[in-house]
Amino acid sequence: MTRHRALQPELPLHAPPTAGSGPAIELGGQRIHYALHRTRRRRTISLLIDERGLRVAAPLQAPQRAIDALLREHAAWVIRKVRDWQQKRPPQRRWIAGEQIMLYGAPVTLEARTGGNLPQLDEDRLLINPQLPPTEIESRVRGWLKQQALACFIRRCDDYSAQLALPAPAVRLSNARTRWGSCHASGRISMNWRLVQTPTAWIDYVAAHEVAHLREMNHSPAFWQTVAVLVADYAARRTALRRDAHRYLLL
Ligand SMILES: [Zn+2]
Repeated sequence: MTRHRALQPELPLHAPPTAGSGPAIELGGQRIHYALHRTRRRRTISLLIDERGLRVAAPLQAPQRAIDALLREHAAWVIRKVRDWQQKRPPQRRWIAGEQIMLYGAPVTLEARTGGNLPQLDEDRLLINPQLPPTEIESRVRGWLKQQALACFIRRCDDYSAQLALPAPAVRLSNARTRWGSCHASGRISMNWRLVQTPTAWIDYVAAHEVAHLREMNHSPAFWQTVAVLVADYAARRTALRRDAHRYLLL
């Protein structure tokens, strides 16, 4: 089963850097991690701190020593900003009542309830059994979210493939850290379960994108025309997904 390589860079997932991963530099006696983004269009190296932490944007060919030099030049600023960011970060999730998860772009609050088949959604609350250990609550809530994700993704892919008069594809969940979706040459579609946390308009865009690959295994103008048949404003959704998805990715 060959994977269509060209599809892979299309739906990148800009996940927040996790502590200990990615590049790092020693500044003022402490190890500072950052996310590095190299882009062809960029001409200069820039530093930015946002809700995801320290981010370095650089031209494709910028040597690492130039990046290191810029970080050292601005060491005092970097250290101060990273410290502020760490203090603002939400505390570690404990999987107890009152905490929130995201479902279809809206917060859902965990609420303690005994009895019944839990977790169970009740409007904007997800009922959990507080007598279970937090690790068990976590695995059940994650499992529940993945169930919602798979059911939703299958529905959307079925709907879009029907609109193109194609047979319904096999859909499965992916756990990729690097992309939202992919369509394999065999016709199987994978969609990232984390998408279930984002607004449905974006889920629809990813589903339409992958279903369109069942007809066009490329990113040609004909491919984008097919996406547009399914989701006319796909370009706006793609932009919003790239720009804002991280705000919804609590898990
Ligand atoms: Zn694609």
